[in-house]
Amino acid sequence: MSSEPLVIPRDIIPDVAEADNVSTDDTPEHWTTLKFTWSGKTFELSVADTDRVYDLKTALRDLTNVPLERQKILGLVKGKLPEDQVLIADLRLPAGKKFTLVGTPEGDEIKDPSRLENLPDIVNDLDIDFTEDPAASLAYLNDQRNRRKVKEATEKLKIDMIAPLREGKKLLVLDIDYTILDTRPLTSGLLPPDMCARPGLHEFLEAVYPYYDICIWFVVVFLPVPHLRHHYAFRSQTGWMWLETKLVELGMIGSSRNYQISFVLDKTCMFTVFSQRNGKPWSHFVKPLQIIWNHFPQFDASNTIHIDDLSRNFALNPREGLKIPAFRNAQTPEAMADRELRKLTRYLLHIAQVSDFRTIMHKNWKQVIKLLPGRPGV
Ligand SMILES: [Mg+2]
Repeated sequence: MSSEPLVIPRDIIPDVAEADNVSTDDTPEHWTTLKFTWSGKTFELSVADTDRVYDLKTALRDLTNVPLERQKILGLVKGKLPEDQVLIADLRLPAGKKFTLVGTPEGDEIKDPSRLENLPDIVNDLDIDFTEDPAASLAYLNDQRNRRKVKEATEKLKIDMIAPLREGKKLLVLDIDYTILDTRPLTSGLLPPDMCARPGLHEFLEAVYPYYDICIWFVVVFLPVPHLRHHYAFRSQTGWMWLETKLVELGMIGSSRNYQISFVLDKTCMFTVFSQRNGKPWSHFVKPLQIIWNHFPQFDASNTIHIDDLSRNFALNPREGLKIPAFRNAQTPEAMADRELRKLTRYLLHIAQVSDFRTIMHKNWKQVIKLLPGRPGV
């Protein structure tokens, strides 16, 4: 750890909308109670005007275990049910409206990976840099439904600690998929876990651990590799158990290395947000840091950094996000030459001395480390 002064020229810090612009006006929402029958039984549920059609389908799945893509919703609206992003308010549903749900619940069958609802890491070209679009972030943060989703995710959140948090440390929230591991050969079983790791992974974690508690946030996605179909016997509930085995094998958990992962979050702590892009509806998952901060009040925007290969994952926290190029094709010469984690080590150690992260912009991290004295080419 160096004692160099922090060098971040103001002129490379772009203007961004301040978090103060986020509305805190939580006027009570208007809810509508609906009744539906499914499989001979009657159910009741409530939807808010700010919910989307997608949220209604999610609520139906929670009640019946019928996956979204299998749901047939009859008699709720005239004609075809509008698209997922449409606001419930726009459906103008009367209180007590009755409808019928048709659909087979999810059993213990092996999932067809082509029908997995969430494939964020594959469709990487749809990423958008939210640090360059503060207005888009602000729109998300000002959406009453999204603020409610943060509250709901906070209430649902159960964290199993792997290692205790330490006093006075900052928090490093680290994506797994294509940030520190090439998930593709890992999930298909084509390579052993240690061969899927980004070069310098353990050294990176050991170097930053004295200053940061480490949280990993993963979305394991299974890819279609036809001759390895039996590997798809994977269910979201067991996602962590599966990954834990891999991380133990890799030495990230339960080894004698000089770092510990404090806790792990998965896809169940994420939710979908809706917006427009190029005039078309666009939706994607987000990782809302606020749910961690609600759970561990010692952490907030002043001492948390979130590293991810997908900028849209930090759409609700653009100032805490640092986007790293995706790591793919493990074991190829290009992948073996990857030095991103070394660069990241220099940056994280450098900013470890900053008392309030809100005063810096991680977006410029590569420019910042170029200004640091040290080994060339690192
Ligand atoms: Mg990722």
